[in-house]
Amino acid sequence: MTRKLFVTTALPYANAGFHIGHMMEYIQADIWVRFQRMQQDNGQPRQVHFVCADDAHGTPIMIAAEKEGITPQQFVANIAAGRPQYLDGFQIKFDNWYSTDSPENVELSQSIYVKLREAGLIVTKTVDRFFDPVKGMFLADRNIKGECPKCGAKDQYGDNCEVCGAAYQPTELKNPYSAFSGSAPIMKPSEQYFFKLSDPRCFEFLKDWLNTPGRLQPEMVNKVSEWLGEAGEKLADWDISRDAPYFGIPIPDAPGKFFYVWLDAPVGYLASLKNYCSKTGIDFEALLRDPATEQIHFIGKDIVSFHLLFWPAMLKFSQHPVIDKLKVNVHGHLTVNGEKMSKSRGTGISPLRYLQLGMNPEWLRYYIAFKLNARVEDLDFNGDDFIARVNSDLIGKYVNIASRCAGFIAKKFDGRLAATLSPKAQEWLARALTKDGAPRAAQIAEHFENREYGKALREIMEITDVTNQYVDENKPWVLAKDAEQTALLHEVCTTALLLFRQITVMLAPVLPNIGARVAEFFNDAPYAWQDTQDGGVNGGVTAPLGRTVQAYNHLMGRIDAKMVADLFDAPAAAPAAAPVAAPGKAAATAPAPAVALPAGIAPLEAEIKIDDFFKVDLRIAQIVNCELVDGSDKLLRLTLDAGEGRLRNVFSGIKANYDPAELVGKLTVLVANLAPRKMKFGVSEGMVLAATAADEKAEPGVYILHPWPGAKPGMRIG
Ligand SMILES: [Zn+2]
Repeated sequence: MTRKLFVTTALPYANAGFHIGHMMEYIQADIWVRFQRMQQDNGQPRQVHFVCADDAHGTPIMIAAEKEGITPQQFVANIAAGRPQYLDGFQIKFDNWYSTDSPENVELSQSIYVKLREAGLIVTKTVDRFFDPVKGMFLADRNIKGECPKCGAKDQYGDNCEVCGAAYQPTELKNPYSAFSGSAPIMKPSEQYFFKLSDPRCFEFLKDWLNTPGRLQPEMVNKVSEWLGEAGEKLADWDISRDAPYFGIPIPDAPGKFFYVWLDAPVGYLASLKNYCSKTGIDFEALLRDPATEQIHFIGKDIVSFHLLFWPAMLKFSQHPVIDKLKVNVHGHLTVNGEKMSKSRGTGISPLRYLQLGMNPEWLRYYIAFKLNARVEDLDFNGDDFIARVNSDLIGKYVNIASRCAGFIAKKFDGRLAATLSPKAQEWLARALTKDGAPRAAQIAEHFENREYGKALREIMEITDVTNQYVDENKPWVLAKDAEQTALLHEVCTTALLLFRQITVMLAPVLPNIGARVAEFFNDAPYAWQDTQDGGVNGGVTAPLGRTVQAYNHLMGRIDAKMVADLFDAPAAAPAAAPVAAPGKAAATAPAPAVALPAGIAPLEAEIKIDDFFKVDLRIAQIVNCELVDGSDKLLRLTLDAGEGRLRNVFSGIKANYDPAELVGKLTVLVANLAPRKMKFGVSEGMVLAATAADEKAEPGVYILHPWPGAKPGMRIG
């Protein structure tokens, strides 16, 4: 079968430039797309259509344009004009960049709506809406802020919590305020249009849809199943209308009403594809109906509810042909040095500043790829780790192969590679490129396909290790001094360069610029995955034998720590360190209790109210992994599952009492809402409870808690 891939990233809201989190998502998707473009189906390059668009509608853009004295259309166009410097700068290659404020999107959104109405899934209700008495207008969800009704996070928008990912109605927010005037909004009745997600048909459909193998990550299947409830009782109707004035798409037959921006935003994926099809002469309708077409969305975990509840239900009940093709890949958030990105704390990284500092975009592509896997886990950009990873892998292992061998080919052999290889050299090729008798390229391809980029890169680095071992054993710089060893020198440098070429082919999805430059060096056409075997555009491993290569130019320099230091904004103020109590050590000194306690028993802390106790969110967590921490004689590194659809990394000072292996699989108790803490060895996202004696010298030992049978990860303790 010839695969046809329709790939998108989330549509960025067109009110600002990109932050580093956007770049992470684009890099993740771009690597996958480039890997797919290197594949062949029936001897032809695979068809991949990679599109995106600015998410243009909604009140924030309307207000921002008003402030600048321009139309919303002009405002969005200005933002769109700034996109290429980021995308080109980080070698992200979309086929089309469009806007949700486009004729295609109006037509597609309205036609989906009309079909949903025909299916009986649009209802009207008179609801109380927030109204800003100072501004004299109804407030859109994004213009109301308050505390999340689910997790209590402050300053969350009216539709969706960026901390816990919950979706809700603005009226559910606690302590709401208008984002424009800061005033407390009043309630005013208004007739609104709803998508009837509570209809039993939606539950029946979604239940089956999300359980289709290969469609969603297992964590997401679990999360959405929770949202559905046992029989759909948790599904609430979705308010899809907003009152004028609103920058959006008019609702058919409903004067003064517009689609809520989240109704037409995902339709923007299709609008951008349609626009691209019309520009390139592809039959849009036929592509959508083709059984070989797959639709893959890359999105962040903060917008899951829109993509895994509303969007599939909209497609299904408007009888859209892409519903059966839809796959969604969700990634975690990017943190910087263990903290949520924040300019005021000096943890923001500007992608443009990165480029302005002259930092190589392929360093960031490699580092992000190295840390990505297929799970919904947060990913930390750590400055020191970034420098160490890139300098060690890309410079020390990969580029080093060419630096050590290409010069001899130019100087001693007129740029010509050896024409044949001895059995010994061929043995080294096989040793580097196969593992347990199977070609590594096949395994690496599987990792890329499954978005396990970290695994793919680790395996590629194993090839560089074997190659460097080969160069070290043969020492071309020694052979070059001995005229009798000229043939061997030729063979050693040729063999190492053949391996370097193979490594480059496999790194090309991650390092496209380097891939192109190395292809030029070998006089190859742009690399295809097939070049890891015989056949394909450029032929397999030994195809360049006897060939004259181009002059070698140094491919990449090391990261200078000074650059990385310059990358971080100066902190606005020193952040207060979160007080963290080590096991057995009180965080603060407490007043002596009135009741005397036996010797050897620590005094009690000051009395608290039950509300104080419930501020500490204790959860059952399963220890899914546990390992020693290099360089620490106290800590163990625990990987915990507290039922959140993600895993946490927690360091605990319990090494003295426990073997890592005996803890794996056990349940324990986690302080789940403790502020993450950056430690020398990484970020600790919580604390595991443990008991110690008051006098640890007299009675050493630290004992972790273990719940009775029946407790499950995620259960709250209290
Ligand atoms: Zn929340």
